[in-house]
Amino acid sequence: MHFIEENLKQVEQRIREACARSGRRREDVRLIVVSKTKPVSMIEEVIRLGIRDFGENKPQELRDKYDVLPKDLRWHMIGNLQRNKIKYVVGRAVMIHSIGSEELALAVDRECEKKGMVMPCLVEVNMAHEESKGGIAPEEAPAFVRSISALKHLKIEGLMTVAPYVENPGENRGYFRALRNLAVDIGSQNIDNISMRHLSMGMTGDFEIAIEEGATMIRIGSGILGERDYSV
Ligand SMILES: *Cc1c(COP(=O)(O)O)cnc(C)c1O
Repeated sequence: MHFIEENLKQVEQRIREACARSGRRREDVRLIVVSKTKPVSMIEEVIRLGIRDFGENKPQELRDKYDVLPKDLRWHMIGNLQRNKIKYVVGRAVMIHSIGSEELALAVDRECEKKGMVMPCLVEVNMAHEESKGGIAPEEAPAFVRSISALKHLKIEGLMTVAPYVENPGENRGYFRALRNLAVDIGSQNIDNISMRHLSMGMTGDFEIAIEEGATMIRIGSGILGERDYSV
């Protein structure tokens, strides 16, 4: 799987260049390798190359991979989460990036209470108002954050977005910038128990633009592990 090492090297180089262009420090941008649909053997290869952060979008897949791999990895839940599957994620993931409804927030809070833990979370914002995607509309995000801020077992640490698929990544710059402005706006309201330190934005097609606009976490799958095959 030599291609993984090559891809990772190139992505790392591009991250460094985007940081340099925007006057940011490399250590302020965390690379999450999105391993959904990919086998454990591939993840082991990525671990050998020094990566510890992995993203999954299906609760059972996250559970299955967590359970067989070393316990010092950091698993990020980045996908749509149904209430009856929260139990697979709480206690395994270090962060849920996809809090997109009050019901989900309440259900995660309840599961965390049961397990005696606090879950770091991000609020997912649907910047382009795409029907096909989850997340809170940007204009509703401040009130939403306020409404879940009293939940004792969630620790809201920022915002996440999945930008539209575009040919030219520059087209997403406005969405990334608007997400950062939203985080600044919410942060300035000094809501108890809420921090806006993280912006999870940028994927294979647009991560450099996201870094230039302030991403602290980028989520890269196909650009490192190759195209996903959903037919199997
Ligand atoms: C699949 C996925 C990614 C990674 O997508 P690539 O284009 O393969 O880098 C990032 N974020 C989320 C939420 C995803 O579901």
